[in-house]
Amino acid sequence: MANNVKGTRDILPITSNGFSKIESLLSSIATLFNYHEIRTPVLEYSEVFSRGVGEGSDIVRKEMYTFLDKGDRSVTMRPEFTAGIVRSFIQNKMYATEELPVKLFYSGPAFRYERPQLGRYRQFTQFGVESLGCNSLYNDAEVISMAYSMLLALGLDNVKLKINCLGDEQSRTNYKEALKEYFKPHLEEMCPDCKQRYELNPLRILDCKVPYDHELALGAPKIAEYLSTESKERFDKIKEFLDKSKINYEIDDQLVRGLDYYSEIVFEFAYVSKKGKDYGALGGGGHYGHLIKELGGPDLPGVGFSFGIDRLLDVLLDDEILKEEVPAVDLYVMPIGNNVRNEALNLTNMLRLSGYKTDLCFDDIKLGSMFKRATKKGAKFAVILGEDEVKNNKVIIKDLSKEEQKEIEVKDLLSYLDELYRSHHCHCHSHEGECCSEEGCECDSDSDCKCHH
Ligand code: AMP
Repeated sequence: MANNVKGTRDILPITSNGFSKIESLLSSIATLFNYHEIRTPVLEYSEVFSRGVGEGSDIVRKEMYTFLDKGDRSVTMRPEFTAGIVRSFIQNKMYATEELPVKLFYSGPAFRYERPQLGRYRQFTQFGVESLGCNSLYNDAEVISMAYSMLLALGLDNVKLKINCLGDEQSRTNYKEALKEYFKPHLEEMCPDCKQRYELNPLRILDCKVPYDHELALGAPKIAEYLSTESKERFDKIKEFLDKSKINYEIDDQLVRGLDYYSEIVFEFAYVSKKGKDYGALGGGGHYGHLIKELGGPDLPGVGFSFGIDRLLDVLLDDEILKEEVPAVDLYVMPIGNNVRNEALNLTNMLRLSGYKTDLCFDDIKLGSMFKRATKKGAKFAVILGEDEVKNNKVIIKDLSKEEQKEIEVKDLLSYLDELYRSHHCHCHSHEGECCSEEGCECDSDSDCKCHH
């Protein structure tokens, strides 16, 4: 028997409902911020990432799914979205044809050959945004506050926002020199990765998890001492915005992020679940001053962030904000006997196309077993159809929470169901399946609401 590839996972229906809920909530918030969806290919030419994400990053050095296609071109399954989106921004000349900033959001799978562990997979789904072509620090501030609002909207009110400033190019060049000087005497004892990082991008050493290197990194010079006046002012103004917006944050001078294109502000949202599991970063991002130019476009900056949906889902399940469940149906159609199958299927489809989520029993089983199935599927009402009913153009509707049932003419069925739902359920169209608890809502209780709109 074949198994799934190590580090990948199947999102089964019991979980995929939560997955979709997260994606749709995040997309709707991005839309409120006037961001538009972009879908770029999973496959890009490898240079998009080697030039974009950076030769010095762990992602490019060790984690990419790269192969030669049948035409001998090196292609890579995207390990992240930003570089591919910037490639598309340039290729489609969005910088010339659209108002700047171009605000984009995305959701889809990304691939990294990492060691699988809690919240870390080799195929995972990212949701993120990119705002391209605007250098205002308030654009950076808006992106951070959007990410924060999204986490709050998901019910995660205990996230820890960490920020750091990597400065402009000159600040970073000076800082890298200082880091090299600091690490040089210890290079022999440092891990093989850090020896390479020392040459390619010494900032990456600050990210190293190997105990010796990590300890050493704690004593390294701090970027704050090397920031230019402009970078410092920019960072201060963003902090002022966060203070005024009551967005709690802490400055983490070790935060460098794993992608080489960042400059100026970088940020990350850390989370420990209520049960105490440390999920690391739920998402992060930052400003990138020169990535667009680096990939062959005009000298315009960008800013963005990315959340890991798999990790968000794990956290929301762990904190019991989401439940693992297959969504319930509204109605369950129960044909009695084999002679009414055609009518039952047509009736079921009619109910479905009228907006009721409806399932149908295909098996010739006892009525009692059908009721058990209906209850298991969470149906509120059973629609029973036997030969007599078909002959008389009628159906029986049974409220599964009570012992009541009623015979109804097929032509009156929809208005009867609408009436039932109106009297039992919420009128609000703004949600699905759960009570909105808004004024005017006629649900008896949260659990009572099965709004089918
Ligand atoms: P990054 O692109 O590295 O900044 O990652 C952004 C977010 O994507 C992280 O905070 C995680 O939530 C998620 N993420 C990154 N790598 C993985 C992975 N291997 N498995 C699951 N989620 C990931």
